[in-house]
Amino acid sequence: MDGPPVKIVSIYITGFYVKKALNRAAKEILVSAGLRRTGGRVEILEVLQQAKMPLNQEEIQAQLDRDLNRTTVYRTLESFIQAGLVHRCFVRERAWHYELAHNCRPLQCHPHFTCTNCDRTLCLKDVFLPLVKDIPDGFIIQRQQVRIEGLCPNCS
Ligand SMILES: [Zn+2]
Ligand SMILES: [Zn+2]
Ligand SMILES: [Zn+2]
Repeated sequence: MDGPPVKIVSIYITGFYVKKALNRAAKEILVSAGLRRTGGRVEILEVLQQAKMPLNQEEIQAQLDRDLNRTTVYRTLESFIQAGLVHRCFVRERAWHYELAHNCRPLQCHPHFTCTNCDRTLCLKDVFLPLVKDIPDGFIIQRQQVRIEGLCPNCS
């Protein structure tokens, strides 16, 4: 009984400080985006900051401490999209998946890779493709998003 309890305490303390730091970062992000700091906005940003992959609205809602209704979560995400903080990355099972925009470039998102074996979708944060050049006259590119299918390192 001398090893494990100490370990648990240290994990708790680390988690506490990480949460504090995230909270501070979320507030700073909101201020710099010109958005009012509400508890709901801070909390949704924190969920997106900690996410390892894009999340749909239901998954975001499930990770919130406070009880926000669907409309509030939807409107909050829309305000983040308008402010350029969050991108809609792809639709999966008829639901948009959202992620923070900080790993994307002005005209394009990093590609998303879906494994056809384990069904996971991964962010390829350091991969960018050239913007398409031969689009017909009159079209203006606002955002290029690429989805790739194949086998992930675990499955290949
Ligand atoms: Zn993006
Ligand atoms: Zn896989
Ligand atoms: Zn991504």
